Amino acid sequence: MILQSVELVKKCPVCSSSSFSSFYTISHMPTHVGILWKDKNEALSCPRGDIELACCSDCGFISNIAFDPSMMEYTREYDNSLYFSKCYRDYTKSIAERLIKGHQLYKKRIIEIGSGKGDFLYLLCEMGNNYGVGFDPSGDENLYQQKSADRMTLVKDYFSKKYSHYYGDFICSRNVFEHVPDPLGFLKMLRAAVHGKHNTVFYFEVPNISLILKDLSVWDIIYEHCSYFGLTSLEKVFHASGFNTIKLSHGFEGQFISIEASPAKNIEKSFIQNQDTIKEFISLIKEFSYNCTMKLRWWDDTLRQIEQNNEKTVVWGAGGKSVSFLNILRSNNSIQYVVDINPRKQGCYVPGTGQRIILPEELTAYRPENVIIMNPVYQQEIRQQLDFLHLNPRVLLAL
Ligand SMILES: [Zn+2]
Repeated sequence: MILQSVELVKKCPVCSSSSFSSFYTISHMPTHVGILWKDKNEALSCPRGDIELACCSDCGFISNIAFDPSMMEYTREYDNSLYFSKCYRDYTKSIAERLIKGHQLYKKRIIEIGSGKGDFLYLLCEMGNNYGVGFDPSGDENLYQQKSADRMTLVKDYFSKKYSHYYGDFICSRNVFEHVPDPLGFLKMLRAAVHGKHNTVFYFEVPNISLILKDLSVWDIIYEHCSYFGLTSLEKVFHASGFNTIKLSHGFEGQFISIEASPAKNIEKSFIQNQDTIKEFISLIKEFSYNCTMKLRWWDDTLRQIEQNNEKTVVWGAGGKSVSFLNILRSNNSIQYVVDINPRKQGCYVPGTGQRIILPEELTAYRPENVIIMNPVYQQEIRQQLDFLHLNPRVLLAL
């Protein structure tokens, strides 16, 4: 159920402004989108929590103020690896190349915070002959038996100040910072952990909330993401934690934004990002709730029509977007399966709604009339696979 409310709540956790108001609520959502449930009933009775987004009109930071950190626990069963997609691999490789070249990362020491299964750290170590340490409670050192294994260590734990004896010339973190409920405190801890060394370069990459708001990508709002950033708020939180910005960028068709920054000797007074963008951002916030309601109504009508026509429909992509899509929309009875190219997800069930996850090859027997693509970035890749399987369903983009 979607609730809407606009009310003043507590202070912004980044800039302490009292202009911090809640603007959008989604209740009773699965707390983990990446856990692979092997049992359908367990998937259906997965833990749930509420999402109530609040936005700071001074710095643009958005937070789920209903977030309960005690609900979070990542284990090896957690798998959000996107590395089975060539499209995503190419994107990641281009980032690794850019960072290695831009910061001369050759034979350097690299720390990755939230290294997942170690894919990105492996790229940095391989491509630049670097030495890497990755921190992630869901890490699996056995997955990395390649050439650079002797130069790469995975620590199965969250990074905290107890690991400040690990030295990094370059500290990166991708798709992790949005999981941190106190981003200011987290960055201050990191700054202290590197003992304020001014030549340490940080690279942080997060989903782009500006694009989510502009495109009404309500499926990108998931419980695990308790903090949302645009370029302005990302720069502001680094600045407020004692860093100076080196570079701001966006990639993957604008879906991700990143910052390169270093601990500052003297905090610069000016920002790279134009602060006027906050006004545009706030106007998107004001329209978001109404526009999302309209969008969800369209999808509910469409799915109801599909059900009435007895058409078989699958969702393509078993990531956070599809978990949100299936849990927010109640008219999902016509959807029996979710397709994913990650073989580790095959046979598992979607949290909250219980669709079975299948590999693309299984579609040749099922022959769906409709395929809903969750992320349009993968559209070409998915259409090629459908052609390869001699399938010609109607393709719907979950826009
Ligand atoms: Zn703020």
